[in-house]
Amino acid sequence: MKRSDRQLGMHRDITRRDFLNGINVAVTGSLLSTPLAQALAATDGDPSAQMLAGYYPPTRDGLRGSHPGSFEVAHRMRDGERFDDPRDSIETGEDYDLIVVGGGISGLAAAWFFRKEAGPDARILIVENHDDFGGHAKRNEFHIDGRMLVDLGGTEYIEAPWSYPAAAKSLLDDLGIDVSQARKVFDHELYPSLGLRGGIFFDKKTFGANRLVAGNPDLQQGEQQTAYVTLPAELEYGIGDRDAVTAFLRQTPLSAATQEKIIELFCGDREYLANYSTEEKLNFLQSISYIEFLTDIAGASQEVADFFWMWRGSYMGNGVDLTPAVAAMRYGLPGEAGLKLDLMARRSPEWQKHSYKEDFHFPDGNASVARMLVRAMIPRVAPGNSMHDIISAKFDYSQLDQDDSPVRLRLNSTVVHARHVGDPDNAKQVEVTYVQDGQSRRVRAGFCVMACYNSVIPHLCPEIPADQRKALRQSLREPLVSTNVLFRNWTAFQKIGIFAAYCPGSFFSDIRLTYPLQFGDYQSARTPAEPITVKMYRIPVSGKGHAADQFREGRHELLGTTFETFERNIREQLGTMLAEGGFDPARDIRAITVNRWPHGYALGYNHEKNEMSYYRSEDWTDADRHWLKGRQRFGRIAIANSDADARAMTEAAIEQGYRATRELLGES
Ligand SMILES: Cc1cc2nc3c(=O)[nH]c(=O)nc-3n(C[C@H](O)[C@H](O)[C@H](O)COP(=O)(O)OP(=O)(O)OC[C@H]3O[C@@H](n4cnc5c(N)ncnc54)[C@H](O)[C@@H]3O)c2cc1C
Repeated sequence: MKRSDRQLGMHRDITRRDFLNGINVAVTGSLLSTPLAQALAATDGDPSAQMLAGYYPPTRDGLRGSHPGSFEVAHRMRDGERFDDPRDSIETGEDYDLIVVGGGISGLAAAWFFRKEAGPDARILIVENHDDFGGHAKRNEFHIDGRMLVDLGGTEYIEAPWSYPAAAKSLLDDLGIDVSQARKVFDHELYPSLGLRGGIFFDKKTFGANRLVAGNPDLQQGEQQTAYVTLPAELEYGIGDRDAVTAFLRQTPLSAATQEKIIELFCGDREYLANYSTEEKLNFLQSISYIEFLTDIAGASQEVADFFWMWRGSYMGNGVDLTPAVAAMRYGLPGEAGLKLDLMARRSPEWQKHSYKEDFHFPDGNASVARMLVRAMIPRVAPGNSMHDIISAKFDYSQLDQDDSPVRLRLNSTVVHARHVGDPDNAKQVEVTYVQDGQSRRVRAGFCVMACYNSVIPHLCPEIPADQRKALRQSLREPLVSTNVLFRNWTAFQKIGIFAAYCPGSFFSDIRLTYPLQFGDYQSARTPAEPITVKMYRIPVSGKGHAADQFREGRHELLGTTFETFERNIREQLGTMLAEGGFDPARDIRAITVNRWPHGYALGYNHEKNEMSYYRSEDWTDADRHWLKGRQRFGRIAIANSDADARAMTEAAIEQGYRATRELLGES
């Protein structure tokens, strides 16, 4: 072993799950070893494991998200292998009212709305290819020193709940999620009260020196500043204070010219588009990326572009080479001062009335929404009935798929085919084939909701007309990695004075301490001596070329990166960044969970115009919005999931689940 590996702690005893030549490998036991973890290790790789006592995927660490074993069958199908020959599959004789393909928020919501309308006796089967339910809304759970800590594996929070559309709002109400308690459960004062603020980490390879620069603790945090806006306050929304921006930049390794350009962008009054009307400016800035604005319009250097490239990357899911300039400025990237666009004031009065502090956070993110949905539909799976007890509620996965339960959730099962039994116009049933443990099985239902990814549906349903299949294939999802690292304490963060850092140029672009939350008897860490989870995001895009190509390459990179590579990068980056705080990666890291999301944020993508936008282009016609065509009901099959709304939001996933069931039941 290399000396540097030893210093990093690569030899330390943490669970490392990896994927080598098609074999799921668990290397070494865990320091956090519990009877549960041992039971899991014993069942590793066995897809019927969900029925065994002790099966509890949230405590699995290593490579999670799209974990080894979840995607291989689907990829073989993508590559041309067919699984639809009935002679190869077992006829189970199971017959349902509804089969839902995909156990993410959209699929769970579809089952919920169907049951609400069809009644509690409606028989529903949800089929999911991962070892856990929730889709992106996944829970990571750690146990250390007799204490449980949870964090979000993917979906973060209920954003702007006041703006939720009717069906999504009704679902939250029915589940008892009281979003008005947002400020009560999230302690926005904790980190500022300890003198912690956002910072920026400059790496040697990109900026010539490794340096962490913390923001000024004396700057007013304000209503918009929260523990998830991780940048230094002086570079945040609306601060625009030349002295403060200058003082921050003087501490950085950036060249003098770069510093001056950044000051100009934040505080200058240079008119970049002098001959344009406001409308023309907005249209033009929608048609170019933020990087194009920087380099072509503002005359910025490559170093300036490097500095801003991943600004809010974990939120946007891409580099700002792919974000329209106007959208980037709406999310706080500088430039609008000179352009005199006053974008904040242009937001709707509703948006201006509300604060980020109204966003509602569960400690495991919207995994709690998924868990509450599952508990409400299959009550035997977990005790309790409130949003406060859901965090500590023990889930018994062996109860998810029981014959005598009207709702069943089948994990580790990839759907490979769905077809009408007879002519789609008159058929009374849909037959669904799934592969579990290498064996195809057939089940039937009166209706089917596809709550998976749009791009996989043409493979599953070759019956769907060719133009609709083409539209479905146009849906793109952005790849990203959301990692949780368990620290034995966070004194290094306290000594340095940060709770978060933006790291342009580094392997992980965003790093932050967990959100400070309290739910019932669950309490996240409050003092630096306690263990805590640290969140790290990586957006695997190159910044070069077309969006679709960057995302395809990023997906490829994600699935081809070993856990060891992730681990080494985690240890190196944290070790370098937190060195001055006395952090020792070999000593202080206790567990690592890397959640890969090769099919992450759903986005609006317009092939005809060769444009992408995570934010909708208002000028797109319905014909440009391929997802409207793609999501049309086909016989007894309806299409849900966030791709069907081209929006990577929980409420979009819920609304699409609602729409899909309405389309089916409206026709029955
Ligand atoms: C890292 C991350 C952070 C996010 N943060 C937020 C946030 O803070 N707030 C917010 O509102 N939104 C957020 N989002 C977006 C939000 O998570 C999604 O919009 C929403 O949860 C998507 O739900 P879905 O059911 O449409 O898709 P998914 O969650 O992708 O679920 C689809 C499911 O179908 C399964 N599936 C696919 N093919 C098959 C098959 N052939 N057979 C069986 N199963 C199949 C998949 O494995 C998956 O489990 C985030 C997303 C990510 C990735």
